[in-house]
Amino acid sequence: MSMRTRVFRVDPKSPQAEAIAAAARTIRASGLVAFPTETVYGLGANALDEAAVAKIFSAKGRPANDPLIVHIKRFEQLRLVARDIPARARELCQRYWPGPLTLVLKKAERIPENLTAGLDTVAVRMPDHEVALALLREANAPIAAPSANLFSRPSPTSAQHVLDDLGDLVDVVLDGGPTPIGVESTILSLMDDEPRILRPGGISVEALRRTLPNLVYEPQTLAEDIAAAPAPGTMLRHYSPCARVILFSGEDDAEVYAAMRAEIASHDRAGLLAYDADAAEFSDLDIAIERLGANAEDAARRLFAALRSLDGQKVDCILARAPEKTGMGLAVWDRLLRAASGALVEVDAAPADCPMQRN
Ligand code: AMP
Ligand code: MG
Repeated sequence: MSMRTRVFRVDPKSPQAEAIAAAARTIRASGLVAFPTETVYGLGANALDEAAVAKIFSAKGRPANDPLIVHIKRFEQLRLVARDIPARARELCQRYWPGPLTLVLKKAERIPENLTAGLDTVAVRMPDHEVALALLREANAPIAAPSANLFSRPSPTSAQHVLDDLGDLVDVVLDGGPTPIGVESTILSLMDDEPRILRPGGISVEALRRTLPNLVYEPQTLAEDIAAAPAPGTMLRHYSPCARVILFSGEDDAEVYAAMRAEIASHDRAGLLAYDADAAEFSDLDIAIERLGANAEDAARRLFAALRSLDGQKVDCILARAPEKTGMGLAVWDRLLRAASGALVEVDAAPADCPMQRN
């Protein structure tokens, strides 16, 4: 059966009822719907329908060992997808939902095995976007939705990115414009005594730590850390454009710029991903530059589109300066490191007898 993708433009604050109804019918009929959330676009299917969930994996080319996040419309739906929900989960939900916080909990029996990649845990969140919430209400089912990109490509922050990657593989696309946050949710596991960040994202570690003083976060910084990936699917190579990405870190601006210039000179056509202040330093060069804006929030919003744009400009390498690992900067740093597959040049690295502080 050949299926034409239907694209509906919707008002992100107050989505048109006909579009939501068509999308909800598609979910109930085991189809795939791409929709905006406050983080990135999701590729959704009925989370209780094993065959529909399987379509997500095949459309994305996603490995079967990379579990999906389930989206729900209100706290009470949590009992449908998870069990033995601890009291601290309720507190976190009251404080942060709807919002970019995903909780890993024990999975309910009725959740199909393919959704959780065979794990006995499930990742759940309530998105803070009217289009996603309207779809969840109208479909009247929890919706499994990973990012609506091809596996390992930069996540989609616009409906066009979804169409570029998935084209005819999705039945309905709800186009609610660009996504406001631009990086994925923060994933928090409540499966151990101490709450643990599995992936930094739209809610900062600092903010969570105010609610959870004993929060654990161990960042992956090097290629060798792949073996110790804290969450399935957080393997180092991810979010990657076609061009090789190289990250530069260092305190001394002049030294970092010099190292980046040397690298640029060794390529036919380098691309640069930079905050406005850094980009100004390279304005004399004839290279492709994508500006990340003035702060970490801007960078989060623009990052994935910028990676896609540089790919479109056929650069043979993308250079970026590692951002500060504070606030939203940590999520941007994490995505950049993965886009770079761990290729990090430490310009003023500490000597070997002075181990890098890792926190
Ligand atoms: P995506 O929605 O594309 O950002 O991917 C969802 C990510 O959530 C996966 O790649 C995993 O890293 C994580 N995840 C989903 N379910 C679980 C789980 N049960 N335990 C740990 N991590 C999970
Ligand atoms: Mg993803």
